Amino acid sequence: GKVLVSGANGYVAAWVVRTLLEAGFSVRGAVRSEEKGAHLKKMFTSYGDKFELAVVPDIMKEGAFDEAVKGVDAIEHTASPFHFHSDDPADYLGPAINGTTGILRSALKFAPTVKRVVVTSSAAAVVGNHFTQAVTTLSETDWNDDSVKLVEEKGREAPNGDKYRASKTLAERAAWTFVNEHKSAISWDLVCLNPPLVLGPTIHELTSPDALNTSMHLMYTAFRTPDFTGGIPLWVDVRDLATAHVRSLTTPEAGGERFIVSRGAYKWQDFLDGIPASKKSPSGPYITGTPGSGKNATFPILLDASKSERVLGMRYRGVDETARDVVADWEARGW
Ligand code: NDP
Repeated sequence: GKVLVSGANGYVAAWVVRTLLEAGFSVRGAVRSEEKGAHLKKMFTSYGDKFELAVVPDIMKEGAFDEAVKGVDAIEHTASPFHFHSDDPADYLGPAINGTTGILRSALKFAPTVKRVVVTSSAAAVVGNHFTQAVTTLSETDWNDDSVKLVEEKGREAPNGDKYRASKTLAERAAWTFVNEHKSAISWDLVCLNPPLVLGPTIHELTSPDALNTSMHLMYTAFRTPDFTGGIPLWVDVRDLATAHVRSLTTPEAGGERFIVSRGAYKWQDFLDGIPASKKSPSGPYITGTPGSGKNATFPILLDASKSERVLGMRYRGVDETARDVVADWEARGW
């Protein structure tokens, strides 16, 4: 079958496209301009016409995906702003919510062939102010409505991280609402994936470390900065998340479900411990930190990923493999 992947030039989506192609699917990658698709075109030349581009200049525009959805069997919607550099809540909420409902509306109107839609949501839509004295384990029944409330109350004054998290909660809720409201008219069912921080090698277009997407930029900083604590301390490898996107299409029982897609909790030190010794200071570019100090760390919030293991058959990579592969990726780029 043919799968439409939105935001195809992004960090996660490039892996989703590659994993779909490897699994035998044809892929239509939606990007904002021909130019933004050039790297993908080149990377996937060997797949011939099994990989094509669709240009969708503005996902906020009414009917933006009307052409792009035509003739596809499934949709993986990943396009959504993931950055913290605007103070205007609308810069997060607008594209996240309207992009999601827009692609669903286009599918409803113009793609009776679609059987399943997968939305790349986030653990940001799960983890709110769930902090208590004890360790709290969250599952697919939990929602982050706290960030939504905060942004409603404070607007521009809310932390930008909460604007992002609110955008993910509201976009996912909008997707489920759309499905409920159009149950009898749609030919497809919905799967939402909720990954925490996504880490691992990059295959999308990158010109410099500064151009890294938000999660990998955190890792880049963590590998060079003593005692760095940025990012939520829960993670999944990008290749495992891509696998989850493919299994969400190939697993009939996944329909109508959301899945936490997570390896577990980490300290940045755990990844530092996985970097080959020869690449660490003083000879290499990466810091050593305090080896082993992440091992006995405690975490206030954990995620229960057992549903993804049970239903999607997920098995998650560990820190050592991811650290090693990321360092090899950067080395190959000369960073
Ligand atoms: P990237 O920034 O690498 O990719 C984001 C993609 O979305 C790009 O293709 C980008 O297009 C597109 N996009 C963003 N804003 C807009 C907009 N206003 N209009 C049209 N397209 C837009 O991020 P990731 O790959 O990390 O994120 C992909 C998805 O995964 C997102 O939905 C994100 O919320 C989710 N996610 C990511 C996590 C992570 O740690 N990386 C964790 C949990 C969820 P362009 O390049 O043209 O800007």
